[in-house]
Amino acid sequence: MQIFQDILAFFQSEFFKFVIYLFLYFIVVIWLSFVYWTYRDANQRGTNGLLWALVVFIFNFFGLLIYLILRPSEYVQDVMERELEIETKESLMNLQILKCPACGNDVEKDFFICPYCRKKLKNSCPKCGKPLQLNWSICPFCKTPL
Ligand SMILES: [Zn+2]
Ligand SMILES: [Zn+2]
Repeated sequence: MQIFQDILAFFQSEFFKFVIYLFLYFIVVIWLSFVYWTYRDANQRGTNGLLWALVVFIFNFFGLLIYLILRPSEYVQDVMERELEIETKESLMNLQILKCPACGNDVEKDFFICPYCRKKLKNSCPKCGKPLQLNWSICPFCKTPL
């Protein structure tokens, strides 16, 4: 049967070896790029990039799957940006406290009461008498719970 001999010859040919090597080469390239991607992604998410890269290197697709399930859902940069945003909002709120929320007149930071409309602005600590924000649950100056 000539056809079997032809097929056999094909599998033994240099061309077939070349195709196999090319295939293996692509597998390795994809594998290594998975490892590299995991390393970078894990570092960006604030976990141990080297450790996860090793996991993907050893377990390959299975390791990548584990990483995708277990990785932190947020980038470190996002978390930092959100914290910065909260800080900005808090400092804005601190600035707003300098205006009376009821009448809008300027009040000073340690006023207990608005001198214009008599709105209560601060509580005074029962122990040390320092001005406390209305929503504080403990005096930050003398540690008295309120
Ligand atoms: Zn007022
Ligand atoms: Zn106090």
